Amino acid sequence: MAAKDPEISIVTPVFNEAPNLETLVREIVEALDAHGRSFEIIAVDDGSSDGSFERLVALRASEPRLRVVRLARNFGQNPAIYAGFERVRGQIVVTLDADLQNPPADIPKLIDALDEGAYDIVQGCRQQRKDNPLRLLASGVVNRVVSRLGKVDIQDLGSGMKAYRREVVDRLCLSTHRSRYLPAETAWLGVKLGEVPVGHRSRTAGDSKYGLFALLKVNFDMLTTISAAPVHLIGLLGAFFAFIGFAMAIRVGYVRLVDGNFSEYNTVLAVFFVLGGVQMLCTSIMCEYISRIYIEVQRRPYYIVGEVVED
Ligand code: UDP
Ligand code: MG
Repeated sequence: MAAKDPEISIVTPVFNEAPNLETLVREIVEALDAHGRSFEIIAVDDGSSDGSFERLVALRASEPRLRVVRLARNFGQNPAIYAGFERVRGQIVVTLDADLQNPPADIPKLIDALDEGAYDIVQGCRQQRKDNPLRLLASGVVNRVVSRLGKVDIQDLGSGMKAYRREVVDRLCLSTHRSRYLPAETAWLGVKLGEVPVGHRSRTAGDSKYGLFALLKVNFDMLTTISAAPVHLIGLLGAFFAFIGFAMAIRVGYVRLVDGNFSEYNTVLAVFFVLGGVQMLCTSIMCEYISRIYIEVQRRPYYIVGEVVED
């Protein structure tokens, strides 16, 4: 750590949030000055077209601790956060949304919880979330599926407000694949996750960037990054259909031998089930290989040492 490095780096992804930026920076500065720790703010403009970048640069005149990174176009919230992660100078890194839905006044709570030492990441668990009911329902489902498949015990996985130890951020930056979703990446790292309650406010300016279609895309993407469960499900279904088909074929043969009746319809049905099932099974085996190739191209480190105790 260089002598001039701040203790805390705040990273915030910005996509068309111009009307929110001045208040955002003011509230962050108030919260952290009151907390008494040195800090920097890294605002990553994710290809905004509403003058957010110019607004941020203008804010630097009165707040030089604000650093501004501008991405060449809109890449998405997670890539924007990673662009910030790769530039942090602090030993604690805090992320929050730029739309003022995450109250900056709660940042010290996250930092204090991280300072207690039991956790590597402390997430803000949004109390009384101010989002529309459809969104809350979708988040509930995603939380349950991702926390189960990723084997993490977290209430509010999608919260943009989190405090990370610097080592964790450095480890996150080791992965180079293109579908990096922070909840999935941190689940893979196996770090200790804690949660503290934080407030949540309605959006007063600008629109949510996640319509139904964007939400589906992001979550399907994240699901397929953490798990090959859909592939295994197809394989199991295929095996089940093939089994039913074999059972039908045996029954057709039995009826033919014992009763002398032959049902063409049942024969075709049995063949249909066997072929369909075997085909599904083959597809799932093929997808299993593809998913292994995918794991290889993710180029995650082969292992990560948690701790070494030695003389
Ligand atoms: N964001 C971004 N790039 C995008 C979409 C969103 O940097 O492509 C930022 C956005 O400016 C905000 C945060 O990510 O700071 C969360 O986005 P939003 O508030 O739209 O999500 P919601 O609150 O609806 O989940
Ligand atoms: Mg928001």
